[in-house]
Amino acid sequence: HPARLPEAVRADFPILSARFDGNPLVYLDNAATTHKPRAVLDAIVDYYSTVNGNVGRGHYALSRAAADRYDRAREAVRRAIGAAHADEIVFCRGTTDAVNLVAGTFGRRVVGRGDQVVVTGMEHNSNLLPWRRLCEEAGAELVVVPVGAHGRVSREDFSAAFGPRVRLAAVAHVSNVLGTVNPVRALAGVAHRNGVPIVVDGAQAVPHRPVDVRELDADFYCFSGHKVYGPMGVGVLYGRRDLLADTAPYQVGGGTVKGVTRTGPVRYLPAPGRFEAGTPNIEGAVGLAAALRYLHGLGWDAVRRHDRALVRYAVAALGEIDRVRVVGDPGADPSGIVSFVVDGVHPYDVGGHLDAHGVAVRGGVHCAADLLDDLGLLGTVRMSFAVYNSEDEVDLVAGALRTVRPGTWTRERPTARFL
Ligand code: PMP
Repeated sequence: HPARLPEAVRADFPILSARFDGNPLVYLDNAATTHKPRAVLDAIVDYYSTVNGNVGRGHYALSRAAADRYDRAREAVRRAIGAAHADEIVFCRGTTDAVNLVAGTFGRRVVGRGDQVVVTGMEHNSNLLPWRRLCEEAGAELVVVPVGAHGRVSREDFSAAFGPRVRLAAVAHVSNVLGTVNPVRALAGVAHRNGVPIVVDGAQAVPHRPVDVRELDADFYCFSGHKVYGPMGVGVLYGRRDLLADTAPYQVGGGTVKGVTRTGPVRYLPAPGRFEAGTPNIEGAVGLAAALRYLHGLGWDAVRRHDRALVRYAVAALGEIDRVRVVGDPGADPSGIVSFVVDGVHPYDVGGHLDAHGVAVRGGVHCAADLLDDLGLLGTVRMSFAVYNSEDEVDLVAGALRTVRPGTWTRERPTARFL
């Protein structure tokens, strides 16, 4: 039986029964981070209460038990994203860390002077700055594919960016600003026909749609635990086995080596060990595995249906308010995000007004300043949904927007932007 959302899940999230200034939490900033269900909190408490130990170091039962939990978490992630092998799953700190890892290891190996790296015009700073820095250091050039109509990157525009100097491509799966979905499989096809591997930033996709890295034909796929109901400080880099195998370690230290002497050669472990220096975040991996289990337990049918219903409800509700404009085309293939502007009112003032009504949203450029420039906007206000959000909460936003007025930001710093 598919879960009835959001009713079936609200009680699973302890923070939703807390009061803030006497009001219930109306939280519509799930693209920034999601709340955690009790199943995740319990998994972490259980881990520390029954298993806590370090991995790969102790010849005793507790260490083996911790290693077993860590291995099982890796296997749960592998299964969740359809990877072929568990050793293609590298645990890291989050999407930002995962992209930096690829850029700093694989990227450094394949990108040299005079080469090009292709990105899109909708990238989050976390999937832009690591490539920009790599290009600066290597003497390479960053090529930016424009975002087309409806806020997506078309296969044609993407294809036009490819010439003989391109060595790598990096694209967002789902835009964190617009909630629009790029045709990743088609883009991967373009990259591969040009002999180029593709890195996908899946931070906003994994919470909202079933992701299968093999079906997408992604060479690298990155996401964060905390945006998919898991803990902060843990994330995933998926990398194709053959690509990881030829790649130098990221950080080096304990846990990365097979053998080392003071002056002799260093023999590094194969993936994933060579990319996970130091004591791993076992708690995070265990919590993330519990989160993925929780989400999959709801069923993608239920999650997708709820997502679609809420996004379309929000687009319709906003469409009825004077001066409010939805940006992009979030209703086409809903991914839990609706961005909008209120004509004549600075996004920060809109955010402040909604905050005064007890609603948490994000206003600004959402770490994607160039996209906002391209759209000719100072910023947007972004509602982003999770499985526990309801149409009543959207009504609260729509009601509040009817009374929004220019505030101090609009009056005093009308053209100021924030990140
Ligand atoms: N990419 C996208 C599309 C995002 O939305 C985010 C988070 N806002 C990131 C990357 C960075 O994720 P994290 O901060 O968890 O590393």
